[in-house]
Amino acid sequence: MSDLYSRHRRVMPDWLALYYDDPIEITHGEGRHVWDSDGRRYLDFFGGILTTMTAHALPEVTKAVSEQAGRILHSSTLYLNRPMVELAERVAQVSGIPDARVFFTTSGTEANDAALLLATTYRRSNTVLAMRNSYHGRSFSTVGITGNRSWSPTSLSPLQTLYVHGGVRTRGPFAHLDDRAFIDACVADLKDVLGHTRPPAALIAEPVQGVGGFTSPPDGLYAEFRELLTAHGILWISDEVQTGWGRTGDHFWGWQAHGRSGPPDIVTFAKGIGNGMSIGGVIARSEIMNCLDANSISTFGGTQITMAAGLANLTYLLEHDLQGNARRVGGLLIERLRAVAAHLPGVREVRGRGLMIGIELVKPGTDDADPQAAAAVLEAARAQGLLIGKGGGHDTSALRIAPPLSLTVAEAEEGAAILESALRSAY
Ligand code: PMP
Repeated sequence: MSDLYSRHRRVMPDWLALYYDDPIEITHGEGRHVWDSDGRRYLDFFGGILTTMTAHALPEVTKAVSEQAGRILHSSTLYLNRPMVELAERVAQVSGIPDARVFFTTSGTEANDAALLLATTYRRSNTVLAMRNSYHGRSFSTVGITGNRSWSPTSLSPLQTLYVHGGVRTRGPFAHLDDRAFIDACVADLKDVLGHTRPPAALIAEPVQGVGGFTSPPDGLYAEFRELLTAHGILWISDEVQTGWGRTGDHFWGWQAHGRSGPPDIVTFAKGIGNGMSIGGVIARSEIMNCLDANSISTFGGTQITMAAGLANLTYLLEHDLQGNARRVGGLLIERLRAVAAHLPGVREVRGRGLMIGIELVKPGTDDADPQAAAAVLEAARAQGLLIGKGGGHDTSALRIAPPLSLTVAEAEEGAAILESALRSAY
């Protein structure tokens, strides 16, 4: 085991586990592959928790970053900043939000923090609705609205948060219901919550819960929530940190699966837009963005080098229709994995859309989550040269698959074959 493992304790608390019994040090990457410090090559089906959206070492991004680094490394929101303005224009254009303003941050956490600042100021309320099992970040305010207990280390919060049903289909009191009945039950739950609380500022939700195990409600749920929210003057914040930029294949944004809901009031993004560089941001119509009446800028949000990377990356993924690729290749992968799952009693379901695929594992013959099996599949896949992720509620029993969006059919086939073998070895 690398001596880096014991030294790594310096950067995190003792209880936090790294992936794998023998943790990996990634040294470089290319396309959909990464290499570790022992020179082993892996097919990457997790993209570093979805941060590598397009491809590893994408020449267009590398060129933009090195050219910018050679010109100037500078970060001030007090001067005109060409790459930031150009990226903001592109993001506004693809956002679907009328009269959109874009405020850049360095992470998804900060993006959600900014969204909460906007929504609570706009509505003059510090009550927020969030989804059970959700994840929104690691700052004081975002921990408070995170419904997934494993990722919410304190119950102290600057916000009053009420959690509503809807993000998870597989477990909970409504798990046995069909789509229509599930939506009705969740809407009734939301109505009930609204009847018992001070007027909330916003509902924040991930269209597909990421950390929570790639679970999503039936299409249309947020459209129905939206009607109720609008009637009560409550804003809808869509946390697109994992679902944005075409990852879900059928849509560019996760919220679009909910059809007539129309665009959310606020969208937050991060991760993949930078293809590994630290970019986050919040998009809102100008009326909301302008509700703050004192300065609130970020020195490093929108720094030229990250903006140059984001611009090159967004241009690439639009020009190469990576959303379409996610739909086609992701569709094949889901089909292939469902065929495998049909013969494995421990796989409760293969779910997802595009290149955001979750595999829920249970103890065979029961409905009980099987985190040991998930850990075993992760190890077995790694041993055969495939990196995947895991997630879920308090019991990490879902495998998470989110490769770079440029995944080829041959790579999808190769990864599916390894996953099949890893799943078989775990059961
Ligand atoms: N929202 C969601 C949906 C996320 O998945 C994450 C990160 N896993 C965040 C927010 C926080 O983003 P960051 O890690 O960039 O702070």
